[in-house]
Amino acid sequence: MKGYLNPLLENRKNLMADTEELLFSETDGACAYCGIKDYRILTIHHIIQQEPKDESYDNKIVLCHNCHHLYHQGKGPSQNDLFTIKKRLICKTLTQQGVNALKEAYRNGLVVASPYLVNHLVESQFLKFTEYLSSYENDRQIIDAVYELTDKGKKFTEKWSLK
Ligand SMILES: [Zn+2]
Ligand SMILES: [Zn+2]
Repeated sequence: MKGYLNPLLENRKNLMADTEELLFSETDGACAYCGIKDYRILTIHHIIQQEPKDESYDNKIVLCHNCHHLYHQGKGPSQNDLFTIKKRLICKTLTQQGVNALKEAYRNGLVVASPYLVNHLVESQFLKFTEYLSSYENDRQIIDAVYELTDKGKKFTEKWSLK
C-alpha cells in the first residue's frame, strides 16, 4: 500500500477549489454518462441546480453536449443516475485509501494514516492533522499521523454515504 502512486495525484490536491482539470481527469477526458472522448464537445454540468450555483467539486460532472442537452430536456440520464456516477468518480478520485480513511474517521472521530495517502483529504479540509506517530517495521521507520474528521469532512462523508 505504501508508495502507491495514483495517476490523479497531481490533480486531486484540493477538491474544494474550482478544479476543472480534476473533473476532466476523473472521467479520463470522457463524458461521464456515455463515455464519448472528445474535448471539443465536453461541458461541465451542475448536478444540483440552484442560485447561487454550488461550485464545489462534488456538485460538478463532465457531460458531452448531447447527454447534457438530453438531460435538460428530461430525456437523458436522471439526476439519480448522475449522483450514482458521481459517487463512483468521487471514490476513484479520493482513492480507496482516502475513502477508507474517511470511513474510519467517521466511525472513530480519528484515523491513523500515512500522510502521503491522505494529504489530499487534508488539503480539502476533510481531515485535520493532529500529531505524528512513528513506529518501526522490520527496522524501517514508518511515519504515520493521527487525523481528525472536520465538519466539512463529516458532511461530505454523509452526503455521499461513504460511511
Ligand atoms: Zn455523453
Ligand atoms: Zn447542465
